[in-house]
Amino acid sequence: MTKKVLIVGGGISGLSTAWWLSQAGMEVEIWERDKRPGGKIKTTEHDGYTMEQAAALLLNFRPEVAELIAKSGLEKLKSSRTQLAEQNRYLLSNGKLNSISMNMQSVLFSKSWSMRGRLRMLAEPFIPRGGSENETVSEFITRRFGRELLEKAMDPFVSGTLASDPDLANAEATLGRLTALEKRYGSLTAGAMIHKFNRKKSGCITETFSFKGGMSTLVEQLARQSGITFRTNLEATAIERAPGSTNNSPKWRLFGHDRSSPQSIEIEQDAHHIIFSTPAAVTATLLSSISPEASRLLDGIEYAPLTVLHTGFDRGQIDHSLDGTGFLTPKSENTPFNGNIWMSSLFNNRAPEGKILLTTYLGGARHPEIQQWKSEEIVERTVSALKPILGINGAPEMVTLHRHQDALPLYHGRYAARVKQIKSNISSSPGIHIAANYIGGVSVRDRIAQGQILSAEILKQENISPSTASVSTIRSIWRPSDHSVLHTS
Ligand SMILES: Cc1cc2nc3c(=O)[nH]c(=O)nc-3n(C[C@H](O)[C@H](O)[C@H](O)COP(=O)(O)OP(=O)(O)OC[C@H]3O[C@@H](n4cnc5c(N)ncnc54)[C@H](O)[C@@H]3O)c2cc1C
Repeated sequence: MTKKVLIVGGGISGLSTAWWLSQAGMEVEIWERDKRPGGKIKTTEHDGYTMEQAAALLLNFRPEVAELIAKSGLEKLKSSRTQLAEQNRYLLSNGKLNSISMNMQSVLFSKSWSMRGRLRMLAEPFIPRGGSENETVSEFITRRFGRELLEKAMDPFVSGTLASDPDLANAEATLGRLTALEKRYGSLTAGAMIHKFNRKKSGCITETFSFKGGMSTLVEQLARQSGITFRTNLEATAIERAPGSTNNSPKWRLFGHDRSSPQSIEIEQDAHHIIFSTPAAVTATLLSSISPEASRLLDGIEYAPLTVLHTGFDRGQIDHSLDGTGFLTPKSENTPFNGNIWMSSLFNNRAPEGKILLTTYLGGARHPEIQQWKSEEIVERTVSALKPILGINGAPEMVTLHRHQDALPLYHGRYAARVKQIKSNISSSPGIHIAANYIGGVSVRDRIAQGQILSAEILKQENISPSTASVSTIRSIWRPSDHSVLHTS
C-alpha cells in the first residue's frame, strides 16, 4: 500500500508537521526509533518534582501555534506562567541579579544601562540598512544597537537559550525575524512596533506556557491525534526511489528496522512524500545515496552539548524571593552555567509543597568541556556558584542530571548560505523534504510554525486546499504506556 506521507522522526518537528498535514486530510505515518514520541522533549518525575530534559516552556506570539494548541485539544491542558514568574527576568551582573526589561520606556529609566548605551539604543531607527548574509549575531546587534546591548542582553540570550556563541552565530539564520525587520522596514524598533500592532489586530497575544504534566503532554497529545499513525521502535535505515516513480509523480521506498523485535524485523513502505525530522547527521546518512551534496552539507552541521541539572531545595534554604522566571549569565560573569530557571516559580505543581525546583543549563558552545566533567563536579560547582547569588544555605535534597551530547544545532558560520544550498540540492529530489530544528529555528514555537509552512508546500504540490479537505479517519492508537509498534485502526 502506498502512503501519501511518511515522516522519519517523532520529535516536535515531525509531530507538528504531521498534525498540519492531517488537518487537510492527508494520511501521515511517523516512524520513530525510540519507544515514545517527543525526541528531546521529555518530562520526568522524581520525589514529587516534575522536571524537563529539554524544552521547559513555550513562548508564543504566533497565531498558527495558537491554532494548533486550540484545535488539537491542548488548550485545556495548558499550564500558564504564574503571576510570580511574570514579575521579573533577571540577568547576572557583577555577581548580583538585575531585573531587566527590553521595554523601551524601562530601558530609558533603568540603572542597568549606561547613559551612552541608552542613547546608542535610541539611535537605532536612524542607523541605515547594512550587513551581509554572513554577518554574525555580534556584528548585527552591535551595528544596530551598540556593544552594550550585545554584551548585556543578546550574548546571554544567545548562549543561554540557544547554547550558541554570538561571535560565530549567523545573524540571518539565528535572528531571522530581526534581520527581516531591518530588510523590510530599515529599523528593528519601527518594524517591531508595526508587528506588535498587527499582532494585536490578529488577536494573538504573547504567552509563556507549558502543559499540565509538563511538555511531554504536548508531544503525547499530538501523537494520538486523528489522522496520524505514530509507530514507535521503528528506525529508518535506508531510502530509494520506488519502482514506477517519475519526476511528475515521485514515489519513494523507505526501509526500516523494528527495534522492539529481537528477531530484527525489516520493514519497507512506499510514500509520495518523505519528510526527514531527524538530527542532521542521521538525515545526512539516509540521504547520502539520493543527494550526496545535501548529505555532505548536513553532515557539516555542528551541535552543542548541554547538561541540564535539576536541584530541589526546602523553601527555607533560599533567601531570594525567586520572583521571576530565573536568570541568564553574560560571558563576563564566568559562571559554569548559561542560565538558571526557577521552575517552581514559573509553573504550579513542579515541586512538592514547601520545596523549590531550580533548573540549570551548562555547556553549550561557550563551555563544551563541561560535558567531560564528572556528575559530582557539575553539581558541586553549580551549587557553589548559585549559593551567593540566591542566598542558598546547605545542599539540595534532590539532584537529577541529564546530559545531551548533541543538544542543539549551532547556526554558526555561513549558515544561511548552507541552508539555502541544502534546500536547493533536495529540491532536485521531488517528494523529499526536511523539517527539523537545524532549519528555521530551534524553539518549539518555530518548530510548529515551520511544520505549517512545509505542510502548506506539500498540500500545494498535491493540489489540496488546507481549508476544504476533510480530516482522515485513520487513527493513532499510541498510549503513554504502550511501547509497541502502532497500527492504523
Ligand atoms: C536542554 C534543552 C532545553 C531546551 N529548552 C527549550 C525551551 O525552553 N523552549 C523551547 O521552545 N525550546 C527549547 N529547546 C529546543 C527544543 O526542545 C528542540 O529544538 C526540539 O525539541 C527539537 O525537536 P526536533 O523534532 O527537531 O528534534 P528531536 O527532538 O531531536 O527529534 C528527532 C527524532 O528523530 C528520531 N530519530 C533519530 N534517528 C531516527 C531514525 N533513523 N529513524 C526514526 N527516528 C529517528 C529521534 O529518536 C527523535 O525522536 C531546548 C532544547 C534543549 C536540548
